[in-house]
Amino acid sequence: MMYEATPDERRLFYKEEWNKREIPEFILHSLSLREFGFDLDGTGPSHRYNQFITVEQLENFMRSRAPYSAFASVALYERPSAREGWLKSELALDIDAKDLPFKPCECSNGRVCEQCIDEARRVAMEFADTLAQDLDMRNINFVYSGRGFHIRVVDEAVMGLGQNERGQIVEYVTGGVVPTDTTMAFGYSKVFRERVAKTFGALDGEKLLEIKGMKRPIVQRLMVEKERALEAIRRGRFDDISSFEGMGPKTLSSLLGFLTKINFRFTDGKVTIDTKRILRLPSSLHSGVSMKCMLVRDIEHFKLEDAVPKFVRERVM
Ligand SMILES: [Zn+2]
Repeated sequence: MMYEATPDERRLFYKEEWNKREIPEFILHSLSLREFGFDLDGTGPSHRYNQFITVEQLENFMRSRAPYSAFASVALYERPSAREGWLKSELALDIDAKDLPFKPCECSNGRVCEQCIDEARRVAMEFADTLAQDLDMRNINFVYSGRGFHIRVVDEAVMGLGQNERGQIVEYVTGGVVPTDTTMAFGYSKVFRERVAKTFGALDGEKLLEIKGMKRPIVQRLMVEKERALEAIRRGRFDDISSFEGMGPKTLSSLLGFLTKINFRFTDGKVTIDTKRILRLPSSLHSGVSMKCMLVRDIEHFKLEDAVPKFVRERVM
């Protein structure tokens, strides 16, 4: 199903199927303040520093050039065609199915399938839930990117954040770093405990043997009593885990470090931190996989079929 689109298919898509009305409102209303970037022929997004004052200008460009890929900045600028006069940026999280630290499928490096894309969808929902519940973010949008999902937050309070704060948000949401701040006197946050428990639950014994100082008898114990270990992590009773025979505080700390490092790989932190990033434009074609990048209004019920362009359905028949 996921083959590269030919130049003819791209032209057909932009002539007959692409619709400017599928560009999300949160991009449309700030269109002229964004930098647009394009990969015109499949060699990389080198056509940067473009500005469109009206959506009709963008439409003309898309129809006449039928780009291999189209992107728009998460940032708004006074002078987008010079990437100058930064005003603010969306908060973006990129969950790419091909980069998930563990997958429910047999996809090799760089490949994606329906199963791992669905796993990326679940991860995106979890992260968005944390952004909403714990950090009180309201205007959270999901975009199917072609190989995974983007979370794009456009709350005013969030758009002014700098790189450091964005980095801390990624760490918090993913459970990607062992927290060390003063709140630790009250124990690990719920989201941290849950993320770590989930990753621990998904690992097998062989994987745990990669941890520094971890010996086979401890791993065997942890595997036999996995439920007890999981419960201890979920409740933040890490003393219970270090009471597993042979497991000292050092090994426990290596275990936590190992699990958080895996957690950190569920999203590409560089995307979130980079306030000048360009992201694939919803409505455009992801030519590498012949899928539509699109705004997802109902993430819970998203079906991959919704993103299949007409020309793909016709080519299968
Ligand atoms: Zn897969």
